[in-house]
Amino acid sequence: MKNEIIAGVDIGGTKIAVALANTDGELLLIARFPTRLELGPHSILDQAVEEIERMSVELGARPSAVGIGCGGPLDRRRGLILSPPNLPGWDEFPVVGVVERALKVPAVLDNDANASALGEHRRGAGRGFSNLVYLTISTGIGGGVIIGGELFYGVCDGAGEVGHIPVLLDGGPSCGCGARGCLESLCSGTGIARRAREHLLAGAQSPLLSDRADEITAKLVAEAARGGDALAQSVWDETIRYLAHGLSSVVVTLAPEAIILGGGVASAGDQLLAPLRRLLSERVKILPVERMQILQASLGGDSGIHGALILGERALGNIPKG
Ligand SMILES: [Zn+2]
Repeated sequence: MKNEIIAGVDIGGTKIAVALANTDGELLLIARFPTRLELGPHSILDQAVEEIERMSVELGARPSAVGIGCGGPLDRRRGLILSPPNLPGWDEFPVVGVVERALKVPAVLDNDANASALGEHRRGAGRGFSNLVYLTISTGIGGGVIIGGELFYGVCDGAGEVGHIPVLLDGGPSCGCGARGCLESLCSGTGIARRAREHLLAGAQSPLLSDRADEITAKLVAEAARGGDALAQSVWDETIRYLAHGLSSVVVTLAPEAIILGGGVASAGDQLLAPLRRLLSERVKILPVERMQILQASLGGDSGIHGALILGERALGNIPKG
């Protein structure tokens, strides 16, 4: 295959990354800028397209295709963003058509969790595995499933929604999906911070969290737990118990070679992974969990842009609209 230039765009609710790479997978240029939601989707995409044009001039070569990762829900085949909660005003927005018309090259779209799963599979912690499940644990919990080296989509592209595995049998906190007691409602960064605040409001004592009740984040809970704070430690332990409970369903259903955890909460590293491996082994008896790798994502915040670039390779040879 001739070495061509691919552009990737990773659209998030707070920031956008744009990159150029070659078809050998070598990242050539990358730029990041905040998502100015108030500008609306057309202006935001104009910014991304301008950045691709600017980088093309710098590189002296134009991209032959574009891959786009974006928060869902979206319609991959029609290239539409539907009504993403983190991108207000993007309802039914034809992101693929707009990019193809602007750059005159084919583009493909997928959700950001699938893009990150692809990125980690091909260029990160998932290299060498044929079957893996990727989770991003940040504001929410997203996921992507790779089976036989390819993303698995399922009905309505709905596979991989591991954040919405029911963890509590009755009730539990309401989740953005409309259900209650989902893994995301308990173990996302938002869920962890909320549980810590609830304990404080109920009168629990915490030397490291009590005077910062209004600014509690999952990162702060993890730090306080490392600092010996008993309440923070109990919230963290509970988080890992919920995660182990949710992931045990994934393990026994797919027996993946690896589960890869990305996102801000996973940056706690072994504070999360070591007890999670132990609890999963205790919970699942039918399979040898120790034969499965439970790993931290290795591309950090760049899993999504690497995935977008891989998606772009798949658009090569497609016919652009417009
Ligand atoms: Zn849910």
